[in-house]
Amino acid sequence: MPEAQETVLEIDLKSLEHNYRFLRSKLRPETKFLSVVKAFAYGSDSEQVALKLQDLGTDYFAVAYVQEGVALRKAGITKPILVLHPQVINFETLIENNLEPSIYSFRILNEFVSALGRKETSKYPIHIKFNTGLNRLGFGEKDLNGLIQQLKHESALRVVSIFSHLAATEDPKETQFTKNQIALFEKISLEFCSKLELKPLKHILNTSGILNYAYAQYDMVRSGIGLYGYGNDPKFDSQLKPIATLKTIISQIHLLDPNESVGYNRAFISESARMSATLPIGHADGIGRQYGRGKTYVLVNQKLAPIIGNVCMDMIMIDVTGIPCKEGDEVILFGPQLSAHQVAVTANTISYELLTGISQRVKRIFVP
Ligand SMILES: *Cc1c(COP(=O)(O)O)cnc(C)c1O
Repeated sequence: MPEAQETVLEIDLKSLEHNYRFLRSKLRPETKFLSVVKAFAYGSDSEQVALKLQDLGTDYFAVAYVQEGVALRKAGITKPILVLHPQVINFETLIENNLEPSIYSFRILNEFVSALGRKETSKYPIHIKFNTGLNRLGFGEKDLNGLIQQLKHESALRVVSIFSHLAATEDPKETQFTKNQIALFEKISLEFCSKLELKPLKHILNTSGILNYAYAQYDMVRSGIGLYGYGNDPKFDSQLKPIATLKTIISQIHLLDPNESVGYNRAFISESARMSATLPIGHADGIGRQYGRGKTYVLVNQKLAPIIGNVCMDMIMIDVTGIPCKEGDEVILFGPQLSAHQVAVTANTISYELLTGISQRVKRIFVP
C-alpha cells in the first residue's frame, strides 16, 4: 500500500477473510453464520465488505434498518437479509426488496401483516425476536400464548427463525446471567416450536457469545465486531485482525516556544519548547472531542504522539516533540498497529463506537 496522501480508511479484505474463518472454526461445520453488517459494516463499508462475506459463504446478513438492506440489494447481495429493527413506515420498501423483518412485538406483527395484505404475498419470511433479559426489543415469555395463537392462523407469514440477544457475553462477571438468558431462550423456543409444530432456525450468540458460550450456537450465530477484528478480550484480539486502518498525514508542523497555546480555547499550553503537527481529521470525521486534551495517542513513524488541545471539526493537533517526522508523513489513528479498542478505552468508550463513528466523509480504500 502506498502511503496515505489524505485521510483514508483502509479496509483489508484478507483480514476480513481471516476473521471470518477464525470465527467459523469455533463452530460446528453445519452451524449457519449470519454476518452483521449494520452501520456500514461497523463503519468500514457496507458494499465491498458484504460482497466479500457473500463470496466467503456467509449464510445470512443482518442490518439494523431497511435502508441499509436496500443498499445491500443494490450492491448485489442476494443472500437473505434480516432487518433487526425495521420501522413500520418502511415495510413496503422492505417487502419490495425481499428483506426479512425481525418481529419483536404485537404492534410490529400486526402492522407487518397489514403491509403484507396490501402486497398479496404469502409465506413471507420473518424472524421472531424474544426478550430474555436485555430488555431492549422482543416478545416476553408472557406473550408466548398470545403469539402462538396469532401465528397459528397467519398464512401470510413463515417463521424462518426465532432468536434472542445476550446482554453481557464479554463479561466474565455475568456468566450466570448469560446462562440464565440462554436457558430462558431454550424454554421459550421449546414451547414455541412444539405448540406451532415448527422447526425454525434458532440463534442467540453474538461475537463474544461465539467465543465464550459456543455450546449455545444452536442453528446459527450472528457476528459483527469479530468480523471486523475485535474480540472484546485480549486473548481473542490477538487471534483476530482489525480490518480497518484509519490513516492521515501531517499537514503542517509548528515549533512552539514555551508558553504558547495550541487550538481553540487555548486548551494546550506548551510548558517547554515543543513541536506540534496538524492533521486533516477532526470530530466531523468521527474523532470526537473526548479524544482530545492529551487523552489519546496516534502513531507517527511507529511512535506514539498525544492529541493535544481540543479536537476541531476538521483538524487535530498532536505533539511530535522528539519524533522524527516531517510534513506529508503518514499518521495512523487506529488499525492493526494501534487497536481501535485501545484508542476507545482512552476516552471511556468501546471499539464499536469509535469504528461506527468514522463518518462517510472519510474515503474508503480497499486492499484486496
Ligand atoms: C449488533 C448485533 C449483533 C452483533 O454483535 P457483535 O457483538 O458485534 O458480534 C448481533 N445480534 C444483534 C441483535 C445485534 O443487534
